[in-house]
Amino acid sequence: MYKVVIGLEVHCEVKTNSKNFSSSRNTYSEYPNENIDTVDIGLPGILPVANKDAFRKSLMMSLALHCKTPDIVMFDRKNYYYPDLPKGYQITQETKPVGRDGYVMINVDGIDKKILINNIHLEEDTASLDHFGTYSLIDYNRSGVPLLETVTEPCLSSAEEAVTFLETLKGIFLYTGVSEARTDRGQMRCDVNVSLMEDTATEFGTKVEMKNINSFNNVKLAIEYEIKRQTEILKSGGKVVQETRRFDDEDLKTYSMRSKVDAVDYKYYIEPNIPPIKISDSLIEEIKSEIPMLQYERVQKYMGEYGLSRYDSDIIVKDKKVSDYFEETIKLGVDPKSSANWLTSIILGHLNKYEIGIDDLYLTPKMLCELIKMVDAGKISSKQSKQVFFKCIEEEKEPSVIVSELGMTQITDDKTIRDIVVKVLDEHPDLIEDHRKGKNTFDYFVGQVMKQTRGQANPTLTKDIILEEMEKR
Ligand code: ADP
Ligand code: MG
Repeated sequence: MYKVVIGLEVHCEVKTNSKNFSSSRNTYSEYPNENIDTVDIGLPGILPVANKDAFRKSLMMSLALHCKTPDIVMFDRKNYYYPDLPKGYQITQETKPVGRDGYVMINVDGIDKKILINNIHLEEDTASLDHFGTYSLIDYNRSGVPLLETVTEPCLSSAEEAVTFLETLKGIFLYTGVSEARTDRGQMRCDVNVSLMEDTATEFGTKVEMKNINSFNNVKLAIEYEIKRQTEILKSGGKVVQETRRFDDEDLKTYSMRSKVDAVDYKYYIEPNIPPIKISDSLIEEIKSEIPMLQYERVQKYMGEYGLSRYDSDIIVKDKKVSDYFEETIKLGVDPKSSANWLTSIILGHLNKYEIGIDDLYLTPKMLCELIKMVDAGKISSKQSKQVFFKCIEEEKEPSVIVSELGMTQITDDKTIRDIVVKVLDEHPDLIEDHRKGKNTFDYFVGQVMKQTRGQANPTLTKDIILEEMEKR
């Protein structure tokens, strides 16, 4: 059998107002060549100016990935020619990137794994090309968009791990606000390196690289296909060729693009127009303090401190706003399990149904807290609370207002219930006799009490009192 070795190079566009080295807007546009200026189209004599926000955000990501940050960050030129790169070089960070030697914790099927990060560096995106039969069109909107590249060590060992890593990384981008990481807009793309080695081997096998895969599902399919293809080659005594392959998302196969025999020499040198940037300890501390608790840690906390299942914890942390909402209710004194129940069973269902976010929900954490407390205090039943929830968001009124408008108070007074119970029992001595003989008439009595109180008697209390009163006879 062969061991699978995978390393990923993930590109993600950073969310900023302007581009990495120019003042043109960094925004998604339907119209080609709308957000461009001389720097982005690479006219002679241009001078790039580093974007402070992009730089700060890339440092934030580096810290979130537990990377070592350098004292000085430098930009380098990576020289190559391609029509989507009008300057003839890409400004990137080769010598002193924003981060090296980090890690990300992932969880696959309940098992934790530490994924090592080789480095993370800030560079610029290229223009985009659209190919038609005999001609191609170029759109410079993407040219110069800040791009963060995260490079893992070859330490992933299955398609599932690779996808989980990508989902975890995406979560970190979203939680920190560094990127919107939308794969459907090409904001997050991935180069996938795959090799196989004999179980007993001590050296890695020859790797194949698949460039620019733009959905997590395609990453999974491409890896699975490569594992199969390389296994067949090795089994029949052949050798895997080091090359770049393309994944075709129609027939779900990979095809050779170019072999990597002679490694490309990019003639890197320090970008002369951007001075090295000094990183002070105070800047690092400041940025660290802005990183919220991330998904992995939140899940640990929800399971460990609040006793939630991994399944529920995963659902809650999926969206940071939902997770923040949940934590807010706990701060207000709600029991974590009942808050989680409300979120996973009712609130998220409602949000999904109407495709709205939790900040569009009329019911604030404070109102949910009020609602749950009314149930806990026996003021309303849990069945009634659901009715109140929907009325509350429909009419945009506080839960207490809805409860009084519907006359939904529960009877929890012992004497009131007992009087009714005694009356009901008095009317049916025959049924008490039947009960003694082993026939179940208890439910009938409960039903009668409920009927007489129009469903407002507290059910637990009612049952207890009926039992007590029957014992007496
Ligand atoms: P290159 O010099 O070919 O660009 P690098 O060493 O810079 O290779 O690694 C690029 C990516 O390939 C990294 O994500 C790394 O983890 C991955 N990688 C390196 N060697 C292997 C291998 N044998 N199998 C799978 N992935 C690998
Ligand atoms: Mg490399």
